[in-house]
Amino acid sequence: MHYITFLYETTREEWLSSADSIELRGYNPCTWASSEFSDLQLPVNALAYNICPTSRDIYLDRVINQETEQTWERYKGRVIDKIYKLIHKECKEYASTSTASDFDLYNYLTGKSDTILDVAKDRYKDVLKKIPQLPAGPDVTRFDEALKKIVLFEALVTAARMNFELARMQAANPEHIFQEYFEFNTDFKLAARHQGFTPPATPDFIYRHKVMGDIKSGKWHQFMEYTVVAYALAFEEHTGDDMDFGVILHVDLPQSRLVPAHYHTDLIFLDDKKREKFFALRDRKLQIVADESDPGTPATKDECNPECPFLSSCWDA
Ligand code: SF4
Repeated sequence: MHYITFLYETTREEWLSSADSIELRGYNPCTWASSEFSDLQLPVNALAYNICPTSRDIYLDRVINQETEQTWERYKGRVIDKIYKLIHKECKEYASTSTASDFDLYNYLTGKSDTILDVAKDRYKDVLKKIPQLPAGPDVTRFDEALKKIVLFEALVTAARMNFELARMQAANPEHIFQEYFEFNTDFKLAARHQGFTPPATPDFIYRHKVMGDIKSGKWHQFMEYTVVAYALAFEEHTGDDMDFGVILHVDLPQSRLVPAHYHTDLIFLDDKKREKFFALRDRKLQIVADESDPGTPATKDECNPECPFLSSCWDA
């Protein structure tokens, strides 16, 4: 997650002059959901998840409350999310209690690796128990090993940035440097009823009050961008401030690398076009739930995303 600081510093300039072009801000009433849905709010993730060509997923999920099975992929995603938040917390605490003369974040964090992974896995042990079919033992072991790459990479990136600043300042304070370069808020709670979101909307992270962040793993989908658009709108409704950028920290852990792969992670400028696309999706989904109307399946199963959790409900029932 701290990798985002480098992305922000190197790429935001090219977009800054375009920020004034955004008109569809979350605090602007023209972006709010229709008043006919004023009593209806749905979670950001349910509204932003554009897996289905007909949006039948929202009908199954929210109208007939069709349950979906826990999966190994979902468990892995939750553990990965948690690891990033724990790493940030550890770094912040370490920076606030160390001095320039004893600062050694890299060794501190890598020394905490096993503890961080255990805490994250323990947090979701109940989810693990509900997965009907766990992968073979070697796959589970491989996942455990791969998680260590996240801690190693974050330790390298964070320590490098911190040490760069420490090296060029005579009177250096690690806590102040950390606050300046790694200002991530992972506990923001947003109330955005007009956008149609169930309160509180809780984004994975907000960087410097400037970048809305979401952590995703598993196969990359372009529609993942809807999530940061939605949270940016929620932020704007909640605070009255502008949110121009989003980022999906997409985490892949290939065996061929010693570090995580973030191939799809870029700073995204949240222009009006992206916002309009989200409004169309949000309003379609709110309408389906308000009317309790089944939009039906596409003509063939081939048009469905093989990762959709409702495949058996739609096609094998
Ligand atoms: S299985 Fe197909 S029709 Fe059913 S919710 Fe998923 S994508 Fe939509």
